[in-house]
Amino acid sequence: MATRKQSTKGKGAVRSLDGEVVVTRRVHFNAAHRLHNPARSAAWNRRVFGPCNNPRWHGHNYVLEVSVRGRPDPETGFVIDLAALKRVLMERISDVCDHRNLNEEVPFLRGIIPSTENLVIAFWREIEPHLPSGKLHRVRLYETERNFADYYGDQA
Ligand SMILES: [Zn+2]
Repeated sequence: MATRKQSTKGKGAVRSLDGEVVVTRRVHFNAAHRLHNPARSAAWNRRVFGPCNNPRWHGHNYVLEVSVRGRPDPETGFVIDLAALKRVLMERISDVCDHRNLNEEVPFLRGIIPSTENLVIAFWREIEPHLPSGKLHRVRLYETERNFADYYGDQA
């Protein structure tokens, strides 16, 4: 593909390459939760959620990876300034969730079963309106090293 825009003014003019790129920032937080559906019986909850239904809570070392898609800005070469993306993730997610009880202490999760699946959808909704540039591409959350969920937004 051809180059998009070229600045020809002055010396040190740069070429920009046109192509869609996905960039990712990773953040960590620790949180407690309980998988429990109050509409169902205790036996049903124990059977469906197993140890994750423990009424005394349990914790995870969550790893959140947020990917943004776009074309590099011709002046910076960035799809998104990763420092700015980090700020959004800290303010909207880690500062709110770290060392918290996800069932009880995080306003935007109130009333939601905090499964990894529900968390990636909730996190998408928190992050998306605050991106300074690019399009939110994927929210991936690791609950453990082996278990993770991906959300790509609602694709009609
Ligand atoms: Zn759990």
